Amino acid sequence: MENFIISDILSKPYESGEKTNFQIPLLAPYVTETEEKYLQECIRSGWITSAGKFIELFEQKLKDFTHSPYVVAVSSGTAALHLALRAVGVEKDTLAILPNISFVASVNAVHYCDAEPIFVDINSATWQLDENLLLNFLENECFYTKEQTFHKATLKRISALVLVHNLGNLGNISAIQEICERFNIPLVEDAAEALGAFYKGRHAGTFGKVGILSFNGNKIVTTGGGGAVLTKDEHISKKVRHWANQAKISAEEYYHDEVGYNYRLPNPLAAIGVAQMEKIHFLLEKKKLTRDFYADILRGKAIWQETLADSQPNYWLFTALFENSHLIAQKLKENSIQTRKLWYPLNRLPMHQNCLYVQKNDFSWKVYEKSLSLPSSVGLQIQDLEKIAKVLEEGLDEKI
Ligand SMILES: *Cc1c(COP(=O)(O)O)cnc(C)c1O
Repeated sequence: MENFIISDILSKPYESGEKTNFQIPLLAPYVTETEEKYLQECIRSGWITSAGKFIELFEQKLKDFTHSPYVVAVSSGTAALHLALRAVGVEKDTLAILPNISFVASVNAVHYCDAEPIFVDINSATWQLDENLLLNFLENECFYTKEQTFHKATLKRISALVLVHNLGNLGNISAIQEICERFNIPLVEDAAEALGAFYKGRHAGTFGKVGILSFNGNKIVTTGGGGAVLTKDEHISKKVRHWANQAKISAEEYYHDEVGYNYRLPNPLAAIGVAQMEKIHFLLEKKKLTRDFYADILRGKAIWQETLADSQPNYWLFTALFENSHLIAQKLKENSIQTRKLWYPLNRLPMHQNCLYVQKNDFSWKVYEKSLSLPSSVGLQIQDLEKIAKVLEEGLDEKI
């Protein structure tokens, strides 16, 4: 593992950053010489496509870190989720349940399977799917047989619960697992944001039948673009690998026994992933230190996502609720500091006009409106943080 000294890093300039018009971007990848070295190795060896040693190495590193028995690296988190949903039987004329706050990829994968989403409102404190609303819905608006659960009004089967770990934090997983078992609903964890997050000491994405990770540019670990499927079921891991490779039966012949996809992760991207995984502990530690800094300067002035006692978040994207979030965002923007709100509630997107939304208080909207994600790059220097702190204080003082 590379050795990092936090104070060194804090005083170092960005090693890299996505090109934005902002002096301080929201979330830039953190890349060092190791990524360059491994990429160079790929190029010099000629292994730059979908085979090569880094793919297996990357999968092994993910297995070691998450303790998932099987890991299949693929081309994106969205692709991983598509495969995961197909593997548990999400299909046409079925319903998949998911939280109303998530990145749109979670629900897009449901649409790829021709299934329909049902959105459940979030808990106002944890911003995760509210398990009480879920239970109430299943008990009152569904009926269940020994093996399956059906929605009374449409007679459609509930084919999966897509549990998103919003912002790399985890809700009440034990309660959710119990509900899924009782109603025979396959649990699929969208742990795209949750690499390095744990619940009762177990890694996110290893509780359900299948879990997925993303290595998109802004995630804790990036390969530029990529994802992985996690499962303890060998059969599922084989199916997923097969589908990701156009369902090709053998290396010698172009014979395919099912409809497949081109969802493989190229070797150079896996090489970047290996370099990133070698510094995962540093990446996580730096996130935590930076989050502590924000917590200090915002004490009593903003509301953070609640962390349950059993949950250890990875502090992927520092997001808080402010009474005057618009004003603060504006102030930060004027100072070339990029921020963003949370994802727009899924029930309010035009393609979901006719979808069911299970809610009592529409906390999704309330949380969304006040939310502000603050710069969360691992490469943030102390002078960046001080600049952000100063502007934040000014913005908070102007509160009416
Ligand atoms: C990033 C993300 C995805 C999609 O991952 P990609 O690698 O960008 O396809 C899916 N779900 C959630 C919750 C995400 O944050």
